[in-house]
Amino acid sequence: DDDLVRAVDRVMRHADGVRRLGVRANADTPEDAARARRFGGEGIGLCRTEHMFLGERRQLVEDLVLATTDDQRQAALDALEPLQKTDFIGIFQAMDGAPVTIRLIDPPLHEFLPDIIDLSVKAATDQATSKDHELLAAVKRLHEQNPMLGLRGVRLGLVIPGLFTMQVRAIAQAAKEVPGAKPEIMIPLVAAVQELESVREEAAAILTEAGVDALIGTMIEVPRAALTAAQIAEAAEFFSFGTNDLTQMAWGFSRDDVEAAFFSRYLDLGIFGVSPFETLDREGVGRLMRIAVEEGRSARPDLHLGICGEHGGDPDSVHFCHEIGLDYVSCSPFRIPVARLEAGRAALTQSDSDTR
Ligand code: PEP
Ligand code: MG
Repeated sequence: DDDLVRAVDRVMRHADGVRRLGVRANADTPEDAARARRFGGEGIGLCRTEHMFLGERRQLVEDLVLATTDDQRQAALDALEPLQKTDFIGIFQAMDGAPVTIRLIDPPLHEFLPDIIDLSVKAATDQATSKDHELLAAVKRLHEQNPMLGLRGVRLGLVIPGLFTMQVRAIAQAAKEVPGAKPEIMIPLVAAVQELESVREEAAAILTEAGVDALIGTMIEVPRAALTAAQIAEAAEFFSFGTNDLTQMAWGFSRDDVEAAFFSRYLDLGIFGVSPFETLDREGVGRLMRIAVEEGRSARPDLHLGICGEHGGDPDSVHFCHEIGLDYVSCSPFRIPVARLEAGRAALTQSDSDTR
């Protein structure tokens, strides 16, 4: 057994020695961050902050979303900020100076609102208060037919004043308390450079005032963002491909619903061999990525490029990421060893073909 462990270590070291791709983790708790480091993660490529608003904090989020006055909204944000700061301190400490890409909140709104059916049932009873009726009315106003294409990501930041600002302030304050902390701020679901510019300006001002250095970048997960990457790169220091959404939007397949209904037919027809949500579809989604890499780098030669969709830990997709010249892949902590190995193999395969 010891021989096996030593052999595996040797292979991993070899892979690490030759690979050109960095390997980061998707992690949003200090526990996951610590696990990521144990598996050899060189940073966090995606810290999803929406998870931090569930559980006991749900009430504050409801207060925020349903606020009808500036004061109500600000009170909810003021209550959330110190909690967020604590979240980030824990993650920065666990990462011990390695970069942490924090994605500003990207919730499908329906996951944060009280359930409309529960509310309706309650409102129909004699015990219903006027608050229950108000809540039901507010939730009905915010109801969406397609929440995954709705008020998510940067759109939410643009319509709820102070939401992103609160998060950026919490990041800056946390970074000041953890020596060596290396935050990067990532804006989700951007489709147009103007969305990014508006958020970026405010975020940059907060960072400057706090004296904190942090890259500001964007997810590339909406096809329009990939196609207008030259413009977007003017306002982004890094791109991270969100290939879960990019796949959903390129194919028009719902991430949540569609697979069971007809994927087996697509497999029969040979349209794909495995789900494009698992292995990157090189012809379609991959083409969008190539365009974004080329345009982005032509506008900003030092643009950092990564991927943080599920594909970042899929062997074939890791090879593709190497081929198109990304700087790193980011995947769940448990998939890091595979990503390191495949990144090494991709580099070796390439140098084989270079010398042939
Ligand atoms: C993605 O869309 O690929 C992504 C990483 O973001 P999320 O899965 O949180 O939408
Ligand atoms: Mg996404």
